[in-house]
Amino acid sequence: MPRTDGARVLADLKRLAEFGRYKTGVHRPTYSPEDVASRAWLAGQFAAAGLDPVIDGIGNVIGRNPGASRRLLVGSHSETQPHGGWLDGALGVVYGLEVARAIGADPALSGLGIEAVAWADEEGHYGNMLGSRSFTDGLDEAEIAAATSREGKALRQALAEAGYAGRDRERLDPSRYVGYLEAHIEQGETLERGGMRIGIVEAIIGSWNYWVTITGEQNHAGTTQMSRRKDAGRAMVRLATQIDDGFAAIAGPRTVWTIGRMLLDPNAPSIVPGRAEMQVQFRDTDTRVLARFEEKLQALVAAAARADPCSVTIEPMSKSAPAAMDPSFQSLIEEAAERHAPGRHLRMPSGAGHDAQVLSRRIPAAMMFVPSLKGISHHWSEDTAEEDIVLGAQVFADAAAAILTAG
Ligand SMILES: [Zn+2]
Repeated sequence: MPRTDGARVLADLKRLAEFGRYKTGVHRPTYSPEDVASRAWLAGQFAAAGLDPVIDGIGNVIGRNPGASRRLLVGSHSETQPHGGWLDGALGVVYGLEVARAIGADPALSGLGIEAVAWADEEGHYGNMLGSRSFTDGLDEAEIAAATSREGKALRQALAEAGYAGRDRERLDPSRYVGYLEAHIEQGETLERGGMRIGIVEAIIGSWNYWVTITGEQNHAGTTQMSRRKDAGRAMVRLATQIDDGFAAIAGPRTVWTIGRMLLDPNAPSIVPGRAEMQVQFRDTDTRVLARFEEKLQALVAAAARADPCSVTIEPMSKSAPAAMDPSFQSLIEEAAERHAPGRHLRMPSGAGHDAQVLSRRIPAAMMFVPSLKGISHHWSEDTAEEDIVLGAQVFADAAAAILTAG
């Protein structure tokens, strides 16, 4: 089995965190000068590990391994959220690098190879998982031409400033790989609370989103009799409560739902709101549960429309399908975890989206989690215990070697 060097993993993670350091975290938005510098540094590390690095036209850094006869693609994204943590993405990239080194150094594994990758813009500064979608033919030039950052900067401009404009975009050749493997911090507290050290992802959740619009009649809050009102705000709050109760009654063990956005128009203390909007989202790994939630939501909206003097309508906004992880890869990760952390690993869903869901549409893919301290992520204080980072690297390398040697 390959031998990882825990001190080297920690040193590389700390070096990578210097690009855009912010307090104990990192501010490294995609295509910022810090991000571009970190990608150049990663390409150098991939080269030092014996790989042929390419930084492509969307900013993906890929360490090619032309000599291997069987290859596993391993990595994650390397940019961060604004004022985000030092491990989200970076952990999986550095594990990929370390596994490439460890497998490359093991004579028993000759002919088997890792291609390490740092995807661009998983965090959505300019789009949604731009790098992995570009690699899997899911990103066309029209979308690139139209994409802008939240601050209004055009993606094309950002790519030009980064020096990536005009480069080819690397594309997946599915016959080149046994599959794709990604490590990530959990970003929740399931592992920590259960005293677990490794998570084996069974599936990445699908997220279904809806826009509910309520139209009433705007009027004076002092002179309009209660019986004559068409109060869109009251109708929305009532419906929101019914949705929450209704969902709770039919939820699966890990379904989550959120009404994360509500608007009143006008939003003023002495006006009966004439219009209200809310966005309803639910997530699960099981499409049947998602379909059940959709049916419930439609029924509640229809009932509210009948019962209330306001009109109530619903429109679907987006639906992402749950992504199942490869069952045989899951078993091999689990065996590796059992070897190094007996009884302290857990099969679980991923509540957050990851590049692995994009890759899983084209090649077998799997993910491994390490615990997040207090479940904090997307914040500069995000952290993981050093001994968990070190253990995770070895489990991950064992799993990668087992996947490469299997079948
Ligand atoms: Zn991430």
